[in-house]
Amino acid sequence: MAVALVVAAGRGERLGSDRPKALVMLGGRPMLEWSIDTVRSVREIERIVVALPADALDAAPAGTVAVAGGSVRSASVREALRACGDGDPVVVHDAARPLAPAALFEHALAQLAASGADAVIAAAPVSDTIKLVGSDRRTVERTLDRARLWAVQTPQVFRRRALERTLLGADDELLASATDDAWLVERAGGTVQVVESGASNIKITTATDLKLAELLLAEGAN
Ligand code: C5P
Repeated sequence: MAVALVVAAGRGERLGSDRPKALVMLGGRPMLEWSIDTVRSVREIERIVVALPADALDAAPAGTVAVAGGSVRSASVREALRACGDGDPVVVHDAARPLAPAALFEHALAQLAASGADAVIAAAPVSDTIKLVGSDRRTVERTLDRARLWAVQTPQVFRRRALERTLLGADDELLASATDDAWLVERAGGTVQVVESGASNIKITTATDLKLAELLLAEGAN
């Protein structure tokens, strides 16, 4: 059976709130509760660990295991991994993506089971043209082939051995430079596949994102 690690230990300063981002209200309840309800509805997942700020551990929803997160996102994933028992595969999800549908978790788990991949990650093909800009932050070096570019999200599901090997073996500097956990698996030579996610799986970073999420919820997303 699978275990889920939901990381919710970010401070969320860009949201302009005095409470941790995952506890900001969305649709009348703390943002974190939307993803926890979704994860609970996924049949393969038997245990949920939530990484929270050390002073907000009591915000963990009933039936979940709370751990104090780390100073960077991947350190929070590492703390949750250490506390999750021995389930396999391991599902990692950001509380900042409260509208990820249960079907996306199920598709990622099914693709992992059916493939020989070490990880399957939710992602969306990009719609903007992306250019590589030099270190002067002005000069365009080249334009990337958009047809092959995907914007990476969570959920990300991992074979336990692949995640443990890379995450538990990484030093703090490496963890600080990891913006997603699948990158750690890639750089260790592991195979990572994408599964296409829908338009509602937005990440809440700013107050505008929060308003958009309210609208999507009102229209029946999640
Ligand atoms: O800051 P950002 O939006 O990239 O964070 C993505 C997710 O990682 C959020 O759900 C946030 O709560 C979590 N996080 C964490 N521990 C940190 C930083 C971020 O659990 N130190």
